[in-house]
Amino acid sequence: MICIYCQREFQPSKYRHTKQRACGDPVCQKKRQRDNLTAWQERNPLYYRIKRIDPIWRTKARARAKRWRTIHKDRIQAYRMATMDQYRIYMREYMRRYRTALAQRAGKAAQP
Ligand SMILES: [Zn+2]
Repeated sequence: MICIYCQREFQPSKYRHTKQRACGDPVCQKKRQRDNLTAWQERNPLYYRIKRIDPIWRTKARARAKRWRTIHKDRIQAYRMATMDQYRIYMREYMRRYRTALAQRAGKAAQP
């Protein structure tokens, strides 16, 4: 059988040989999971929207995110350190655009 992601030949599992289209490579498995999730979200477009509207879910989700951030402060810090160069470039661009927009607004305001 040929994997739909890496196009390599693979031995399908003897339990799922009829449906299996991806090989066992972790990269292909990751792609398969992402594609399955995307397909599921397309079939259920309202699922996450309805969930977000739900105030109980929102409260819980916020608490969960806050707890995660408290527990994983080290991971957040590590991520910030790892992406600091990209962040600096992004912020430089962001501030440049911001100043340009400000100058344009000031220029427009000055004109009668
Ligand atoms: Zn593959």
